Amino acid sequence: HLERVGFIGLGNMGFHMASNLITAGYKITVHDINYNALKKFSEKGIPAKETPCEVAESSDVIITMLPSSSNVLDVYTGRNGLLHCRSHLSPWLFIDSSTIDPQTSRMLSTNISKCLLKEKKGFANNPLMLDAPVSGGVPAAQAGTLTFMVGGLEEAYLAAKPLFLSMGKQTIYCGSSGNGAAAKICNNLAMAVSMLGVSEAFVLGQHLGITASTLTKIFNSSSARCWSSDSYNPVPGIMEGVPSSRNYDGGFTSKLMAKDLTLAVSSAAEIGLKCPLTSEARDIYMELCEKGYDSKDFSCVFRHYYSGKDE
Ligand code: NAD
Repeated sequence: HLERVGFIGLGNMGFHMASNLITAGYKITVHDINYNALKKFSEKGIPAKETPCEVAESSDVIITMLPSSSNVLDVYTGRNGLLHCRSHLSPWLFIDSSTIDPQTSRMLSTNISKCLLKEKKGFANNPLMLDAPVSGGVPAAQAGTLTFMVGGLEEAYLAAKPLFLSMGKQTIYCGSSGNGAAAKICNNLAMAVSMLGVSEAFVLGQHLGITASTLTKIFNSSSARCWSSDSYNPVPGIMEGVPSSRNYDGGFTSKLMAKDLTLAVSSAAEIGLKCPLTSEARDIYMELCEKGYDSKDFSCVFRHYYSGKDE
């Protein structure tokens, strides 16, 4: 029951994810507000629709890959949105892979489960929603090796697993609705703080007379080893094939990191939890964006914040 897939949001990530589904043999219909993004598919004969509603009419499942919560709300509840087209819906499963706040995911999931299905499909009487954000970035989206962290009903997760595995290599079930979104923002806050810690340590080390290459060797065989030191080193010239080796171009932008940290800060505030490192990391990434590095990879914090170089 998941042959016809509607894919909405064909940007850096969505373009590759939708392409991998086409390669896997799914019948895809697409939509994006950006005409150029849409054209890449319509030119290949893939049905491209002007509204989310039209996509929903010919799909069993909808996947959204949009920048932020407000875009996801537009696509679901806006005029011509997924939930407003008919009194009875065709798709029985809605998967949102955007990184958004768990509260919005939970609210949408509740609203979706109140809708009615055009015809009963599988085990579902009402449509279901999964939040399924991804980790791995653009190269993993292209290679089909993303990791999906999924919240929602477990039966729906199991039914959708083949779809996830056409776009990724790993899926982790996180529990009820919103838990995938929660997992993603926790992952990204830990990644941001580790990147800041490693960058700060490299700058201090250099000022104390230890080169970044020596310190990297030490970190990677000591207790400070982490992804930011051994897989995504922020110091130019230490590793090949990472954004720091190409002037911090490509990769995961500071703007998206600032957005994810803002989600973590507001989720913590909502439940009255103190997360001082998250707030500090958010402020640093907001400052980088204000200085004009919003489109640079987030590891540029080493050069443009700690080293104080603005070129
Ligand atoms: P992007 O900005 O490249 O793509 C988003 C696409 O959504 C664009 O094509 C845009 O035109 C479209 N869009 C926006 N509003 C729309 C609307 N109302 N209706 C239809 N289309 C709309 O973003 P991306 O890099 O592909 O990221 C998408 C999501 O995945 C974000 O939440 C991001 O945080 C997350 N993510 C990104 C990465 C990464 O490395 N880029 C990694 C993991 C997760």
